[in-house]
Amino acid sequence: MPGFELFGDAERKEVNDVLNSGVLMRYGFDGMRNGHWKARELETELEKQLQVQHAQLVSSGTAAVSVALASAGVGAGDEVIMPTFTFVASFEAIMMLGAVPVLVDIDDTLTLDPKAVEAAITPKTKAVMIVQMCGSMGNMDMLVKLCKNHNLILIEDSSQATGAIYKGKPLGSIGDLGCLSLDFVKIITAGEGGAVLTNNEAYYRNTDHYSDHGHDHIGTDRGAETHPFLGYNFRISELHSAVGLAQLRRLDEFVAIQKKHYTVIKEALSQIPEITFRTIPEGGEESYSFLSFFLPDLETARKTMEGLKANSVDVCFHYYDNNWHYIRKWDHLKNLNSLYPISKEVKKGLEYLSEKEFSQSDHYIGRNISCLIKMSWTEEEVKIRASKMLNTIKAAI
Ligand SMILES: *Cc1c(COP(=O)(O)O)cnc(C)c1O
Repeated sequence: MPGFELFGDAERKEVNDVLNSGVLMRYGFDGMRNGHWKARELETELEKQLQVQHAQLVSSGTAAVSVALASAGVGAGDEVIMPTFTFVASFEAIMMLGAVPVLVDIDDTLTLDPKAVEAAITPKTKAVMIVQMCGSMGNMDMLVKLCKNHNLILIEDSSQATGAIYKGKPLGSIGDLGCLSLDFVKIITAGEGGAVLTNNEAYYRNTDHYSDHGHDHIGTDRGAETHPFLGYNFRISELHSAVGLAQLRRLDEFVAIQKKHYTVIKEALSQIPEITFRTIPEGGEESYSFLSFFLPDLETARKTMEGLKANSVDVCFHYYDNNWHYIRKWDHLKNLNSLYPISKEVKKGLEYLSEKEFSQSDHYIGRNISCLIKMSWTEEEVKIRASKMLNTIKAAI
């Protein structure tokens, strides 16, 4: 990760198909487009590779989460359970619909703790959102069962784990709706973009209409289409789709390169008895986009980070001290710093955040370091990195 590291001729060729006709929009203009439908082609490729019946492209991963929730009928006052460790997009997408994000603890998988999810369910809970962080996954069997038992919608944000598999199923295909991001730093990039995945016909139809102003997409005259319900514009362009298409065709190749690099580094770090690696649920196969491990305590994790920096080992993250991915530093959410008035339900629904402690999440995130696995490294560079990491961590412990 990220896919932009290997941007090349295949991506340029797909983009040139679009540039040669000048049809940058995914809908209409049939006669002008020389038979090129990049967004449609990318959707078909996503359906094939991620083994779902329907994929709907949208303008970003954040939009994908909002569109997925809206398509399943989540809205004003509904509670959506989500993890403390994720990307800010998760609560943004929920709040955009006037729904309330209910943050709960993670476990040693670095994703939702099913016990914490169960404890957070109230009569207002409508959906559970699992965020498959850093190339791996949560305990999906337990979460699927829990959601079934409580009649809740399971949303799976696999933006950081495209290419990972759980018991034979690609991540993103397991929940009622899957969401993925194709932004510039993801394993498959389109520059910007996202997709909603589902096997549910009604949800799919909703995503298709909702992401394009409610258009029903029936017939060939866009102006004559009806609007069965309200929508917005979350469309992706043909240019972005063209890049994403070339990239997605290379997913297996990307995962294989990451696995090779990951394995070298993991083997080196396995020599340190004080380190434990994140738990991969039984039947899980990572996308190898990150190597995540736990140090004995917060202090050692901070010392390790200083050492890595001093030794020029880049792209390692200690999310406890990071502004983007962990509840601890989300003051703008806790203080509800909003440009516009927030509804009473959401304000009230978020009051818990000013007092609630997430000591179980702190226990894992405080000790966790996640290192990005790059595809552009040479074998020599990977070896040097592995030995630098080994020595730095040993010194910190
Ligand atoms: C990147 C990311 C998103 C949002 O994607 P954008 O395309 O940047 O909007 C959502 N969730 C997770 C877990 C992400 O990593």
